Amino acid sequence: MKKTIIKTGFETLYFSGMHHMLRPMLGGVGSILTLHHVRPPRKDGFQPNRLLEVSPIFFEGLLRRLKRRRVDVISLDEMHRRFIEKDFKRRFVCITFDDGYKDNLRWAHPLLTKYELPYALYIPTSFPDRLGELWWLALEAVIAQNDRIGMVINGEERYFDARNVREKRELYDGIYGYLRSMKTEDEMRKVVRDLCATYRVDIPEICRDLCMDWEEIAQIADSPLVTIGAHTVNHMMLKKVPSDATVRAEMDMSRSVIEAALGTRPQHLAYPVGDPTSAGPREFRIAQDLGFKTAVTTRPGVLFKAHGEHLTALPRLSVNGEFQRQRYVKVLMSGSGTAFWNRFRRVSAA
Ligand SMILES: [Zn+2]
Repeated sequence: MKKTIIKTGFETLYFSGMHHMLRPMLGGVGSILTLHHVRPPRKDGFQPNRLLEVSPIFFEGLLRRLKRRRVDVISLDEMHRRFIEKDFKRRFVCITFDDGYKDNLRWAHPLLTKYELPYALYIPTSFPDRLGELWWLALEAVIAQNDRIGMVINGEERYFDARNVREKRELYDGIYGYLRSMKTEDEMRKVVRDLCATYRVDIPEICRDLCMDWEEIAQIADSPLVTIGAHTVNHMMLKKVPSDATVRAEMDMSRSVIEAALGTRPQHLAYPVGDPTSAGPREFRIAQDLGFKTAVTTRPGVLFKAHGEHLTALPRLSVNGEFQRQRYVKVLMSGSGTAFWNRFRRVSAA
């Protein structure tokens, strides 16, 4: 009973927070939204990746509100056209999904179809090829299934307790931070592979369970509302890849693989992870050299006319579960929505 009241209160706050979320979305000339999972919430206490999912109810609320606003929900091609022709008469929003999860087909696609809203899916080709390493979820599984975890950190064998939600969460955050601080993606993946081998977590199974296969992607891609974008082959943090040639191949090959599988060549790209530690000037330049019309980061921000000069370094706004909720609460409480977002009112392409 008490739980229900708290939850209802929270949801109300969440929904009233939507106005605050829409305000920055409607700033500038437009914005690009980032989503990952759309699926009913799970009850588990330990959900360190909860920030990557929103519920279908929340998602439908968002679509309904977007539909009512005087804003155009447009495809990436149309956004590109508006930048090239400097057609900024009307504000716009692009809806994008990263990684190609099965729940997109099950929950998001029917809603987007119902409201007739265009959107894009960025596919890392190793995921439908069933070779994807969703290392952040593999780490979650290792910690969820074990009460004590041993691993070698900086050459030293260490053991950590993970007996309850709090300990699991702290351990997840600690190891995640340690992994992200590593200089190369290869080193990081090796640590996760070793952990998974020790604690019997089947990395390919996570990919099979959660990600669409090519047939499922083809079902979605068939819709005139859908744009399929590239998201590299192996979903690596490109900035941490030493070789320029590898970065180039990751972008270019993913485009060819998608073209071979679906018959259309992607014109748009999303950098995996996409924050400043994962995509920088080298990546923006290579994407441009390869002729991508646009490429998106996860640097937060709305779009301004000046982004027309930086079409392979576009910011997005994350529509994320936990993280966004906390932001709403903060924004609501401080009443400084505009000031909060003004921090990001600059082109960030360095
Ligand atoms: Zn991704």
